[in-house]
Amino acid sequence: MNSNNNNNNDSSSEDDIQVYETLTKLPPANELLPRKLTIDIDVKSLYPLKSLPQFFKTYVPFLEESTQRNCAISETPINDDNRTLLDYYDENKQNLVYKRFDQLDLGKRTSNDRTYFATLIANFKRAQPRVYFRGEALFDQKLTSCTSDQIQFDSNFESGNLFCAFKKSENVYDLVIQNDINTRGNTQWFFFSVTGAKAGQTIQFNLLNHLKSGSLFNEGLQPAVYSIKDNQLNGTEWCRDGFNISYFKSPFMKEYPLSLKKKYYQLRFHYTFKHNDDKVYFAHSYPYTYTNLLEFLNTQLDDQERNQHLSRKVLCTTLGGNTCEVLTITQNTLQRRAYRKGVVFLARQHPGEPQGSYVMQGIIEFLTSNNPQAEYLRQNCIFKIFPMMNPDGVVNGNYRCGLEGSDLNRRWKKPNKYLHPSVYYAKKYVKGFSKERQIILVIDLHGHSRKQSSFVYGCAYSSQVKTIERVFALLMAKLNPFMDYPSCTFRIENSKDKTARIQLWRELKINWVYTYECSFYGQQKKHFQVKDYLNCGVSICNALSQIVKDTSKEFTNQANVPDIQQQILEELGKMPQTDDQDNGSDSSQSEAELSDDELVQLFQPKTYTTKQKNYLKQQEFNNKKKPQPVNPKSTLNSQKASILQESPSKNSDQKPPMSSQKPKNTLYRIQAPQRLRQIEQAKQPDPPLMVDKSVQTDDWMYRQWLIQMGKMKKQQEFLSVTPTRNIYKSSSQSVTRFIVKNSSTKNDRGRVDSISLVSSGLQNKLISSSQQRQMMRYSGSNFMS
Ligand SMILES: [Zn+2]
Repeated sequence: MNSNNNNNNDSSSEDDIQVYETLTKLPPANELLPRKLTIDIDVKSLYPLKSLPQFFKTYVPFLEESTQRNCAISETPINDDNRTLLDYYDENKQNLVYKRFDQLDLGKRTSNDRTYFATLIANFKRAQPRVYFRGEALFDQKLTSCTSDQIQFDSNFESGNLFCAFKKSENVYDLVIQNDINTRGNTQWFFFSVTGAKAGQTIQFNLLNHLKSGSLFNEGLQPAVYSIKDNQLNGTEWCRDGFNISYFKSPFMKEYPLSLKKKYYQLRFHYTFKHNDDKVYFAHSYPYTYTNLLEFLNTQLDDQERNQHLSRKVLCTTLGGNTCEVLTITQNTLQRRAYRKGVVFLARQHPGEPQGSYVMQGIIEFLTSNNPQAEYLRQNCIFKIFPMMNPDGVVNGNYRCGLEGSDLNRRWKKPNKYLHPSVYYAKKYVKGFSKERQIILVIDLHGHSRKQSSFVYGCAYSSQVKTIERVFALLMAKLNPFMDYPSCTFRIENSKDKTARIQLWRELKINWVYTYECSFYGQQKKHFQVKDYLNCGVSICNALSQIVKDTSKEFTNQANVPDIQQQILEELGKMPQTDDQDNGSDSSQSEAELSDDELVQLFQPKTYTTKQKNYLKQQEFNNKKKPQPVNPKSTLNSQKASILQESPSKNSDQKPPMSSQKPKNTLYRIQAPQRLRQIEQAKQPDPPLMVDKSVQTDDWMYRQWLIQMGKMKKQQEFLSVTPTRNIYKSSSQSVTRFIVKNSSTKNDRGRVDSISLVSSGLQNKLISSSQQRQMMRYSGSNFMS
């Protein structure tokens, strides 16, 4: 099970090719990798962006925190009045010193709509999405004249997020973070620059409108800081700096929903500038932009050694016109190719969690290297890598969402081809990949803003029984000093049902599907540096190389190879029972998403199928006999129904979708033509041109209609979707085997989902001999092969 196994590959190559030829019935893994492949991609943003400096030339160690002057939770202003940020703005507009989109022509602004403070609305009906701003008064407000010795803010660059800034007093500035585009909130990520401060000048920054109630900023986390001057003089790159940091409930209420009277949270920090004429960047964590990714991939592909094993393909074009890519890494030979296992890595579903990209970069750099372990992995696995699932969000400085304003990692159940193309195509791709070969591992990389260290969320039916799902998590934790196994949880939370992790686990029956979370902070009150994140990636590969089987010995006796999986299961069985408490969930299904009606204003479906057209013709024909008045409200509803995958709306003032009023099956058929006709009569304006043509096929509308019509039914199914499970026990020698069978759906019935071993003493159940025989058969099957 180590790299030495590869030394005599060549001796068996003839056999391998013969075996390969006998397996011609299997579809080939993929075509031989193209050697030279460079995709030249522009970064597309909704608004003009300035370029960023090249932040990382080398990875330098983090400056020791000897000068740290943190005092957690200093004075907490308590203000129980019901002011919103809009009220704040009215009181302080004479102090406005920065607004992000000052020079930008924002097209038509909606009038009299100041519902939420910092929202940009991008309208995708036209070839170029038009950007609207709600809260127009701010745009008419002139900035207070900035003399050259005053400090100036900027955030018009990739991943930048600062909406506006107010000068409170000489060295105190109040900052407002921008909502995720097309949402009413999701404010947590910040990234802006400051120029014009003098050496020795200390400035207090108050970020007024954070979303989350808890933060590692109260436990010692400092903002990430990059000084251009310091980099030129001392080579310092991103580091953690700032002092007197506290995070507390803001006096300002969220503008939406106002009735709930929820408050924002405020981050306060101080920073002492070191140089005159400096430009200093501040961010939540070390930024990793879409451009950074493209540059990194280009260096990989320019490298004659590395590009042998790496190919790059366009998965889809996103709403914003950016390209979402999928990489393939494997040994560029036919030898044993048919036996290679599948491994899938994803990152940056959440754009404001750049840690995921560093971990991913560590993985890619390692897998394309000439390290013997990497070579072993390439010979035995085919890696499919989605390095940036949400480039639009990354480019435009969002925290959680894509441009359509929803959390992509809550869209995996039924992603919409048009609204969530990267999820739709990635899911389809992974499903196709799983038909081609066994996928043994899926890891989705994230950042966590409330817990320290790194850890995984896995999926398991029981938190009591230590099943196979935990094996790889423990192995990773053993090999990674920056990973904490006790922080890992293995649960199927209802709130996370639509995540990539739970959906892929359910649909593809892969035991090792994990969400890997890296803290924004670090471990034991020591900040993670970039190289630590990279090493987390290397260590994931390291763990995989320990456990993946050598395919050159597929048909030979592997008895000599120690079964690590077995060892870990036994070790897990001996570990004390933990409660699997997840008290730091980083997910928050937000009320910040736009309502269905608002989304319909922004997005339009495009084409009809022949089947739909026939419906429409038929309906037209029928209508000539019996004309029907068109209710504009229901037109909107049906349009909405066709556009929206799953209605995220929780607005009480909205009527339920029409389909929910017609729960009976028999009514669906009668309703269909009428609804489609209504959609056509809605006189659609220009179709969206920003989307890749392949994103929309003509069955789209029909599918939307089906989905919407079956919504009620599916909601009922959804409630019962957690498979009823049969856990059988058997004991042999000193261990008990647990076999979990899936009995929920027709196709999966009887399929074994997991086998686990725990030490004996717990078993007290007798089972029939036939069950036992069956179990022996299942347990004999190797989950790794
Ligand atoms: Zn995340």
